[in-house]
Amino acid sequence: MGDLTTPQQTTFCSKLHPGASIIIWTANVEVSYISTGTNQTVINTCKCGIYGLDSPLQRAFGSVVLPSPDPLACFSNISFTVTQQPWIALIKRGNCSHAEKIRAAQEEGASAVVIYNVDGTGNETSTMSHPGTGSTVAIMIGNVLGTEIANLIKSGTEVYMDIKVAGPHGPVSPLWIYIMSFTFFAITVIILSYFIVIVFKRLYRNQQLRIQQRELKKVAEKAIAKLQVRTLRRTDPVLSEDYSCAVCIDSFKRGDVVTNLPCRHVFHKTCIEPWLLEHHTCPMCKYDILKGEVSFSTDVSDVKYFYLMISAAIQVSDPIYEDLDTRKKEHVYENPTFEQEQQCSDHQGINCQTHQM
Ligand SMILES: [Zn+2]
Ligand SMILES: [Zn+2]
Repeated sequence: MGDLTTPQQTTFCSKLHPGASIIIWTANVEVSYISTGTNQTVINTCKCGIYGLDSPLQRAFGSVVLPSPDPLACFSNISFTVTQQPWIALIKRGNCSHAEKIRAAQEEGASAVVIYNVDGTGNETSTMSHPGTGSTVAIMIGNVLGTEIANLIKSGTEVYMDIKVAGPHGPVSPLWIYIMSFTFFAITVIILSYFIVIVFKRLYRNQQLRIQQRELKKVAEKAIAKLQVRTLRRTDPVLSEDYSCAVCIDSFKRGDVVTNLPCRHVFHKTCIEPWLLEHHTCPMCKYDILKGEVSFSTDVSDVKYFYLMISAAIQVSDPIYEDLDTRKKEHVYENPTFEQEQQCSDHQGINCQTHQM
């Protein structure tokens, strides 16, 4: 027979009465026997027993004896085959009360009673109540350990047990359990509420953002409709090799339809309009077509932006842009809104409608 299975952790199950504070006392259980295989003494110790609520908290030692014929010690004709004193009764839980089992062993002279739990409960134990059992030490151990000891005894092995008080496990106050439960519940509710609020805030913010973007797009479309659009002719100054569309990095060609921004930067119409719809600013100098001013919201540490600003500075300072206003009348304006506005300004606003963004 090998070593007994030593429970690493005993599960305590206590029935708590409202208003009561229960201290569970644990027991160190040392089991020793001579192994029939190796003829050596095997000693197993575990903190795996709990004292009954009506048991004296005392040490008990002796050889372990099983009841017969009923291992649950519930029959009236229970007997114990005792070979030496002192002795400890090992009785299985069930069929009758703990007190009846303990009294049956007590009447036969047991110094202590060990009740092991029912099958299928592993190392689990529970607090025993056994009023009227006097000075007999009573503890409960798990089913696994109890069954192994019982099997050793049935196989003819003499098993000894030493029960010692290990210490209190608790106190477990019902009020403390209520406080802990309420705290856990409250924390869970707070955390859940926090996440729900965060989710709804984000949904609301995203919805507002979408509405703002739609509104901005409409305003941008109106602003783009008012920009000067022209088709490049042979004499146009931007046909020089020094100039190119900053969006597609392609040089301008005769016949290209270009858009002049109020900041005097020129781009292909098909290149700049999608950009303006999204950014509303000149990609060269950050002139905001909605605000009518240069926007400095962009991070100036952005290398690309810095490069574009340098390019813009070079182009704006170029005298060729000074001529754009005077030359605009020479171009074909492809934007009807802009053309109408130009005609209005040429005729000092007479019979013209005011276009608003
Ligand atoms: Zn382009
Ligand atoms: Zn610009």
